[in-house]
Amino acid sequence: MESIAENLAAIRQRIDAACLKCHRDPSTVRLIAVSKTKQAGQIREAFDAGQIDFGESYVQEFLEKKSDPLLENQPLCWHFIGHLQSNKVRSIIGAVSLIHGIDRLSTAEELSRRAVQHDMTADYLLEVNTSGESSKYGLKPEELLHQAPSFFKLPNCTLRGLMTIASPDPALARYEFRRLRQLLDELKGVAPDPSFLTELSMGMSQDFEAAIAEGATLVRVGTAIFGWR
Ligand SMILES: *Cc1c(COP(=O)(O)O)cnc(C)c1O
Repeated sequence: MESIAENLAAIRQRIDAACLKCHRDPSTVRLIAVSKTKQAGQIREAFDAGQIDFGESYVQEFLEKKSDPLLENQPLCWHFIGHLQSNKVRSIIGAVSLIHGIDRLSTAEELSRRAVQHDMTADYLLEVNTSGESSKYGLKPEELLHQAPSFFKLPNCTLRGLMTIASPDPALARYEFRRLRQLLDELKGVAPDPSFLTELSMGMSQDFEAAIAEGATLVRVGTAIFGWR
């Protein structure tokens, strides 16, 4: 098996190649190493190989790892990519730089309320269910545009873009990534200040190259860096 450093180097090369193919500057795509279920030591190994952004999906596991002596004083940039429930908002606010998985107004309202309470700000993405699979979280595309004004109004939290988990079928995934980009454009059209809406979090180990071709700014790669979970 390859080392984490070797896997990371290979993924970064594939990101560069994918960008070259569609005439994008590689610095416009940020690699998030998805470290859920992995140990602090493995995260440290990736950090020592130059990886800064990490994605976690489970609140309790994340908080434990964040305060691990191997990691706690390092300048890591944490992303919460799991499904976020309202009752967990309190624990992660201030601990992550971006929350990817908000899929309803009530959770964003709770985020806003807590941010105001603690005199902080929080950046988040809305998860959209682009595949229409009932097993997936996320706002329906038509709900997103309909509800957008309510999200824009919330104080102390800033909507920075959209996130999706695509279908396993690569042909469908490509279409869903394109749909997410179109939705972001539509959202910009109704936003009070569209300059904040810069992020498209899409693409995982199986499909990040297609996501880059469709405009991903954040790709979330786990298995291809850390091995099977
Ligand atoms: C686990 C996970 C990933 C990483 O998936 P891989 O297939 O291991 O690259 C990306 N995004 C989300 C939301 C995840 O939960």
